[in-house]
Order: sequence, then structure tokens, then C-alpha cells
Amino acid sequence: MTTNAAGRIGTIPSGTGTPASQHTSTGIRLHAPVPGWSIDADVVVVGSGVAGLTVALRCAAAGARVTVVTKAHLDDGSTRWAQGGIAAALGEGDTPAQHLADTLVAGAGLCDEPAVRALVTDGPDAVRRLIATGALFDTGDDGAILLAREGGHHRRRIAHAGGDATGAEVSRALIAAVRAAGAPAPRTQTAPGTASRSAPGQTARAQTAPETASQTAPGEAARTRTAPETASRSAPGEAARTQDGGRIELIENALVLDLLTDAEGRTAGVTLHVMGAGQRDGVGAVRARAVVLATGGMGQVYSATTNPSVSTGDGVALALRAGAEVSDLEFVQFHPTVLWLGPDAEGQQPLVSEAVRGEGAHLVDADGTRFMLGQHELAELAPRDIVAKAIMRRMRETGGAHMYLDARHFGAQMWQERFPTILAACRAHGIDPVTEPIPVAPAAHYASGGVRTDLRGHTTVPGLYACGEVACTGVHGANRLASNSLLEGLVFAERIAADITAHPAAPGEPVIPAPAGSPLLASEARYEVQRIMTAGAGVLRSAESLATAAGALERLHTAAVEAYDREGKTAEPCVETWEATNLALVARVLVAAARRREETRGCHWREDRPDRDDEQWRRHLVVRLTPYRTLAVRTTEGPEFGDDVRDDGTAAPGAPAHPAAPGGAAAPQHQPSASKELS
Ligand SMILES: Cc1cc2nc3c(=O)[nH]c(=O)nc-3n(C[C@H](O)[C@H](O)[C@H](O)COP(=O)(O)OP(=O)(O)OC[C@H]3O[C@@H](n4cnc5c(N)ncnc54)[C@H](O)[C@@H]3O)c2cc1C
Repeated sequence: MTTNAAGRIGTIPSGTGTPASQHTSTGIRLHAPVPGWSIDADVVVVGSGVAGLTVALRCAAAGARVTVVTKAHLDDGSTRWAQGGIAAALGEGDTPAQHLADTLVAGAGLCDEPAVRALVTDGPDAVRRLIATGALFDTGDDGAILLAREGGHHRRRIAHAGGDATGAEVSRALIAAVRAAGAPAPRTQTAPGTASRSAPGQTARAQTAPETASQTAPGEAARTRTAPETASRSAPGEAARTQDGGRIELIENALVLDLLTDAEGRTAGVTLHVMGAGQRDGVGAVRARAVVLATGGMGQVYSATTNPSVSTGDGVALALRAGAEVSDLEFVQFHPTVLWLGPDAEGQQPLVSEAVRGEGAHLVDADGTRFMLGQHELAELAPRDIVAKAIMRRMRETGGAHMYLDARHFGAQMWQERFPTILAACRAHGIDPVTEPIPVAPAAHYASGGVRTDLRGHTTVPGLYACGEVACTGVHGANRLASNSLLEGLVFAERIAADITAHPAAPGEPVIPAPAGSPLLASEARYEVQRIMTAGAGVLRSAESLATAAGALERLHTAAVEAYDREGKTAEPCVETWEATNLALVARVLVAAARRREETRGCHWREDRPDRDDEQWRRHLVVRLTPYRTLAVRTTEGPEFGDDVRDDGTAAPGAPAHPAAPGGAAAPQHQPSASKELS
């Protein structure tokens, strides 16, 4: 059991002269109470989507004691919302090589080919193991898995479940397996025995469905998310007592704050805040030698997104504070066909899956003209960035706020059998796709970038792994190929589990953080960040719009830091302010990278730089946070990440040092691995 005594913060940042790819903790962390309790595990998994639960299952199967911490309910991440399916070369005549080729094309020259090779080669067996774990995919009369086609795929290779409820089925199967693997059955929360202090201002957060979205969750009738007070879950105290009986402990409704490190700077666990359930304080620690970030995406950085409310980029922000490198954040995939709910719609919006176009739906403008014909050989099935850009262009040309997806020719029966979730979501918003075209517009959907990892999920911080949407393995390059993300979560989760269980190590003694931390933004800053990002860093970007966004974000950041440094003032620590602070940090990094990348590539569309510039920019931007709260940016030599994240999770020496003095938004520099700081 740890004590409440305040110690020093993590490892001491070495400041200047440190190789850019060598791990140095920033010493920055979220302002939060000192942990009042702790439990031990071999592995902490943060997040319970496809990535987190697969890591947990595979680690537990190898005998590890796993603690899964998740922000809301087990199935509240993006995984449950996935509609289309999982891509893998399972069909007759299809091969990993063909899947590789399609992935590389979608990635617009920026995929890390060894990572894609790992994805497509391991993929088919990973899907088979998911089926063995209990997931039920749609099959034909002969029992073979039915395979659909989606944008960018030259073959039918998308395995789906429940028609368009693949994620719900994957989530159901993994949760059932995790519970069977020894997690205690959920029960009503009792206060953790060792936590007794009050977190100031903390109120339980209700996970309500976004007002504007009125979403029907896949695979279920319209579901009401319960507030944490009424949610049942396993409590930290309970979890510790039942540990002997099970190898996976679940802590739901708990927000992981920051990484704990030992005196050598190696991962030693996480701090977390347990929400709600009648108690106001829940900051504690899980001590473990390996931490796997599986926190999903960051869609909530924009006003309109397909992502659920938990997708606030927490894992990327935590990793940045821990000194890890992140990459490719400028490549945000905007899904081209999201149900348009009006000009002021905010939060999670219903997706109209690519699979609808895969089955023959047409994109038309208000006059009924199919504007994708002649734009790309695959027309409506072109890669997502092409379709999103074409929609935006047509919207501009015609002055329309949206375009239409016309699938009336499917007929009522096909709609009901193949796309029951989408049909229900449309009808819930007064649109009947059987009789009228669906209004659609692009919305933020997927983060192709994230915490930089190697092929076994190592980040640049020893003992810290990243998996799923939070990670940047390099498989997506500048644009994700449809249905490759569930597969990425599966494949790399298995690789990470193999790595963790092959290298058992005793946990180090964590250095307990001092009471203070970094200043927090007010909860309203979340909406401010979303407005800034939507206006300046959305589907259409330019030097001017990005500069405006950078300036506005910087003012938010500076105001908080100055108030803190001058008067010790900060917003009260609570879920909303932690999330807002995380969102603002990832937004700063995203905008800094988007400014630096002066070209158009994949889903990064610069209006002022409309061409792809392979000579200058066929390389990744790698960003880390410095101890001075500035951003250090460097570029890789080419599209491959290389081997500077070594197998033992440490960074190889040799990359040039970053300059000492923080600078402004610097001119682009293309020396490989050179590093520059941005304020
Ligand atoms: C509407 C929609 C449709 C999609 N369709 C497809 C598809 O057809 N095929 C496909 O391949 N991909 C699809 N995707 C993308 C895919 O669903 C996601 O990329 C994938 O599910 C991400 O899985 P994950 O495990 O990385 O994260 P998630 O499933 O998002 O899980 C993240 C978890 O982390 C938790 N978490 C976050 N922050 C914290 C914190 N601070 N502390 C504790 N826990 C935290 C969350 O609560 C959640 O449990 C779709 C996405 C959306 C939104």
C-alpha cells in the first residue's frame, strides 16, 4: 500500500541536450489530489474497447494479473459503435498482399510498411481467434463468413456481425470473455476502504447520450446510459480482495490521470480517479510494471464527431506528459457520410457506414447528380479522404450545407436486414432511407495518429505501451483504410500481450506525485476547443485558419498557466476539467503538426498547399512535450518509423538534440530527425 506522503514528481526532466527520441519525462501532470489508495497488478490496461480487452484477455491467458481501468461502462468506447466490420484477407482468392496494397494506397505514401505487413499477415488468424473467443460474425447458408466491400478495398474482405452492428458484437464477446476470465461480476459500488478525502468540486458525471444525436446504439434498442451513481461496477477495494480468484480485475467509471514512474523513469503504474457512486473522492493508484494505453480516439476535439463522449484524447495527453513521442496527429479522418442533423448539431452524430456505399448507395447533390462519377475509379467507394473532399467541394460549389446518400433502391427488406442500426438511427431523426435520400456531411471520425509505437506496441517510455486508436503504429499512414482499425486493435493487442508476458519484471517503487500538478482548464474550455478546432483545423485547412486556431489555443493555455504561476489558481480538479485540459493539449499538438505539414496528403487537406509533396513531406512529424510545456517536433527520414523504439521499450540514442530555447511556429525543416521546439 502506498502512503499519502507527497514525494517528488516522476523523473527529473533533463531539459536541453537530450536526444529527441530518448525518453525524458516532462514532470508535467494533471492537477489532482495525491493518491489515497493503491492496488497492485502485473499489467494495467487503460480502456476497454477492442484493444484493451484483447490485451487483457491475452495477458491473463498467459498468467498475468491484469487490471482494466475504464472511464465509463465497459462498452462505452468507439468499439461498440463500429458498424462496417473488420477487414482481413479471409475470402477465397484474397491475400495479405492484396490487403497490404490497398492499405498502402489509402495511406497516401506514409504507411510504415513493416507495420502494415504485420497487420495484414497476422490479421486473418487474429480474427479467427476473436471468433474462438466468442464473436459471432454473419455467415452464409454454407456457414462461411460473409464478406462485404468498403471504400478503398478492391475485394470483399469485411467481416461483419448483426448486419451493421459489428462493434457491438465484438464488444459483447470480449466483455463476456473477460468476465469469464475471472473478473468479479459487477456489483453496486461500495466506497474503497482506503480513500476518504474529498476531491473538491467533483460531481458524478452522467454519461448521457448527446442531446443532438439521439443515437441508437448498435445491437440494442435505444439505450439509456446510467449515471455513475446508479452504475454497478467493481470497486478498487473489492477488486483487491477478489484478486486471488481472478486474473482480470475491472475498474469501471474511473478516469486514469497520469503515469507513475519509478526512480529510473520506468513505468510503475498509473494514477486514477474513481467517479461517482456516492463518494466524492477516488484518486488512487494501480502499481504495475507495464501500462497499456488503449484509450481510443480524440474525436471530441471537434464539435461534430462520430466518436462517443469518452473519446477525449486522454491517452495521448497522458503519454505526452510522460515524455512519450506522438506522431501523425494532423491526420484526422473525417468520415464522409455522417447523418447531417442541422448546422448547430454538436457531439456524437450517427454514422452512415461506408458499407452502405459498398452495397451500392449513391452520393448525390440536391439536384440528384452523382458527383463522384469521374472523380475516382472507385467512385463512391474511393478512399474516405477523396470522398470527404469531394463532398466538401460540392457543398461549396452548390452552397449546400450537406449532400445526400441515396439508397432508396435497396428497398425496405434489405435496409432492415443489412443495415438495421442505421435505419433506426435515421428514422429516429425523421429520415426514412427507404423512401428518401439521407442528408450527409463529413464529421471527425478517426485519429490516424497517436502515441508512436514499434511493432510490439512499445512507446518511447520504458514499460508504457499503446494499442488501438490511441496508438500510431504506422499502419494507417496519412489515411486509414476502412475497417482496418478494429483489426489493428486485435493484432497489436496480441503482439503487446506476447511482449509483456515474455518479459516479466518486478514492478519498481513508484515515485508518488507531489500534491500540485499542472493547471487545469475550466470545463467550458472543452466547447471552446471544439469550436476553435472545427473552424480552423477541420476537413479544410489553410495556413491562415491554422494560425488562427493555434493563436486561440495558445491564449487558452497561456491564460491557465499564467493564472497558476502568478496566483496558484486553477480550475477545480474533476472529470470535466481533466478532459478539457487533455483535449486542449492534443488540440495544440494537432494544430502544430498541421501547420508544419505544408502539403496536402491523405486526410490532411491544406487549401493553400493543394499538392502532395513527396520530396519534402514523405515523412512523419514526431512531437513530444518538453518540460517547459512547449512542443518539440522532429521529422523522420521517410515513411517508415525505423527502429529507434527498441524492443525493450527504450529509445535508441543518436537522434539530434532539440534546441534549448522555445521558439515560435518555426519554418519547416526537413532534415531527418531534426527537432524544433514550438511554443
Ligand atoms: C461510429 C463509428 C463506427 C466505426 N466503424 C468502424 C468499422 O466498421 N470498422 C473499424 O475497423 N473501425 C470502425 N470504427 C473505428 C473503431 O471503432 C475504433 O477505432 C476502435 O473501436 C477503437 O478501439 P479502441 O479499443 O482503441 O478504443 P475504444 O473502443 O474507443 O475504447 C477506448 C476505451 O478507453 C476508455 N478511456 C478513455 N480515456 C480513458 C481514461 N482517461 N481513463 C480510463 N479509461 C479511458 C474509454 O472509456 C473506452 O473504454 C468506427 C468508429 C466509430 C466511432
